Amino acid sequence: VTSWQGKNITVAGLGVSGVSAARALAGLGAVVTVVDGGDGEGHRARAAELAELGVSVRLGDARTLPEGTELIVTSPGWKPDSPLFEAAAKAGVEVVGDVEIAWQLRGEDAAPWLAITGTNGKTTTTQMLASILKAAGLRTAAVGNIGTPIIDVVLGEQRYDVLAVELSSYQLHWAPSLRAHSAAVLNLAPDHLDWHGSMEAYAADKGRIYEGNTVACVYNVADPATEKLVEDADVEEGCRAIGFTLGAPGPSMLGVVDGILVDRAFVEDRQKNAQELAHVEDVTPPAPHNIANALAAAALARAFGVEPRAVRDGLRDFRPDAHRVAHVADVDGVVYVDDSKATNTHAAEASLAAFDTVVWIAGGLAKGATFDELVQKSAKRLRGVVLIGADRALIAEALARHAPEVPVVDLERTDTGAMLAAVREAARLAEPGDTVLLAPACASMDMFANYNKRGDAFADAVRELAAESGADT
Ligand code: ADP
Repeated sequence: VTSWQGKNITVAGLGVSGVSAARALAGLGAVVTVVDGGDGEGHRARAAELAELGVSVRLGDARTLPEGTELIVTSPGWKPDSPLFEAAAKAGVEVVGDVEIAWQLRGEDAAPWLAITGTNGKTTTTQMLASILKAAGLRTAAVGNIGTPIIDVVLGEQRYDVLAVELSSYQLHWAPSLRAHSAAVLNLAPDHLDWHGSMEAYAADKGRIYEGNTVACVYNVADPATEKLVEDADVEEGCRAIGFTLGAPGPSMLGVVDGILVDRAFVEDRQKNAQELAHVEDVTPPAPHNIANALAAAALARAFGVEPRAVRDGLRDFRPDAHRVAHVADVDGVVYVDDSKATNTHAAEASLAAFDTVVWIAGGLAKGATFDELVQKSAKRLRGVVLIGADRALIAEALARHAPEVPVVDLERTDTGAMLAAVREAARLAEPGDTVLLAPACASMDMFANYNKRGDAFADAVRELAAESGADT
């Protein structure tokens, strides 16, 4: 047991998780300094609040190690090669994240963690899992990379039976002693490589989630890299590898048979070799990638002992967050769908695969991605493409290489009004029965504050179009 009393701790970053860590650690008697490179008004206001709790805040210098630091608690976004951490390494000072602190602060009889990571689908799957656990009558919450800072949850008054924990690769990188009850890696595709340095380093950080699991390591059968991470992990004796697949499941798998989600891994009834869990239509939206998310959530819930009926009820109760393959409106026989959250090519590929014929609105900040594979895999579904945003030329080039017959409208615009123009162009290209899909495959910050604002702009534009055509939305 760590004694925090009098320990000299530097918190890197004055964001939500940094403030939560500083408060909690000061409350436990640690001597806390928060460092942050910014020193704007917001920073000063937060610093003043923390000062009342006895926390010192150093603004405008994120590089040098404060005198006497014994441990650094970092915010997830800070890069491993930040100067502060290089200084820490030289001084032999350990760096951990807020998830590690939360893990260490859990009480003796604390709730076990069911943990989820992956390139895409983390939030959705974590919320599905929490919904299933609730339907089973368990006291639970979706935490980690979402909702209330995890330290506050662990130290709070509220008691839980089990937690559904979303973990980013950053958080896993900084959480060396975390040991989940069971964990899932949903998929692995290149993302955030600028942060991790390489695909290998990114995969290794994701793989940390399986270390020390006691009951189940859940992997994606269609993504062998996730199974490899299970093989490489050091787990407790008796911990099982459980696969999920959109096809018929083998032993120790969950899968889909004739539109039914079935479990062959945790079958209570010895007379049966599979257990029916839910219908594909119980999952919203019933797109293939989302069925995969549901299977992963179901696998973790079943590993925790949840009965099949609660899996079904929990999936039925679940509604995805905004901007995740969200139906906006039908206008003149064309369906408009907002997947603004598809901020990388892997996500966009999944959402394009959910529709037969698509007019695709794409573009934004590519973050170093290439688009050839995405375009090759999706070409046959494309009725047309409308491009907006800073890096649209990269997508236009991939389209010219792999789908030269598909009509492309390159709007050459990055202003906010471009979204309405894009929706009008898409409407012109679409035929009745088609889907107009915003799945940018790019980050939004070239044109919008964030992906929420981008999705809202799309929905507003669709409503304007609908009003003009006199359609109901
Ligand atoms: P995350 O928390 O990992 O960012 P979300 O659940 O918020 O994931 O979903 C983000 C986007 O990723 C969705 O809008 C959708 O385009 C895509 N997506 C969701 N689940 C999957 C999946 N299992 N595989 C591929 N793409 C997915």
